[in-house]
Amino acid sequence: MNIIVAENSGFCFGVKRAINKTFEASKKNKKKIFTYGPLIHNNQVINKLEKLGINSIEKIEDAKNSILIIRSHGVPLEIYDRAKEYDIELIDTTCPFVRKVQTIAKEYHEKDYQIIIVGNPNHPEVIGINGWCNNEAIIIESIDEANKLSVFDKICVVAQTTITLEKWNSITKKLKEKAREVIEFNTICLATKERQDACAKLAKKADIMIVIGGYHSSNTQKLYNISKKYCKNTIHIETAENLPLNIFNKDDIIGVTAGASTPEWIINDVINKLKEKVGN
Ligand code: SF4
Repeated sequence: MNIIVAENSGFCFGVKRAINKTFEASKKNKKKIFTYGPLIHNNQVINKLEKLGINSIEKIEDAKNSILIIRSHGVPLEIYDRAKEYDIELIDTTCPFVRKVQTIAKEYHEKDYQIIIVGNPNHPEVIGINGWCNNEAIIIESIDEANKLSVFDKICVVAQTTITLEKWNSITKKLKEKAREVIEFNTICLATKERQDACAKLAKKADIMIVIGGYHSSNTQKLYNISKKYCKNTIHIETAENLPLNIFNKDDIIGVTAGASTPEWIINDVINKLKEKVGN
């Protein structure tokens, strides 16, 4: 049996950084620590954090006099002021790539551009970016929505970091007709694309593909769909415990990939279990 792990899989740079900063904080601090929303969509990591006494909150006032971790998605600008009001010490793990989008939104909003965010209006990253331009951005995720926009003098377009390049290209093409001046910042993060490309490449040569990640994680689901396109024997599991061991043959090439919120220890558990039960 040949087990090959995709070249890019598991935690992206931003999530790795957020998790590391959170574990470091728990070692160094005596104060109660909260995260502003779940740090990542991975139950195993969330359970680990809870064991360390780190819980997630939804309302900032619930972290009064404590430490609050801002996750990699970032938050609206007003949260920094509100934290001061409640005497909250912030540990800001906003991914630098997300920070870049936030600062562009702020800068061009101040220069009187209409900010347009191409992305999902309900995603925390997009809600956060909008909060850097006074919540006055227009958020669209389809060409249909772009078509319906009225015409502006000048617009500045940014992307939610995880959208596809196809979506960005098609929507920005339409937006060019919607203003006298259009400034575009393609702020798509390559981590997602690299992980998806590596998954496709591996799925093409694997007999069986194992996609590891939370059952509710949308980027894991996406990897599963990409993999399934090239390798019909694709399975999606959350941990080694979900691994069905009766489907593997000794000569199989087994491809392994993992979503952006899957920690390395879970990937290693799966590989070890495969080696142990099915053989090398
Ligand atoms: S996907 Fe990209 S932008 Fe988002 S947290 Fe990871 S590295 Fe940062």
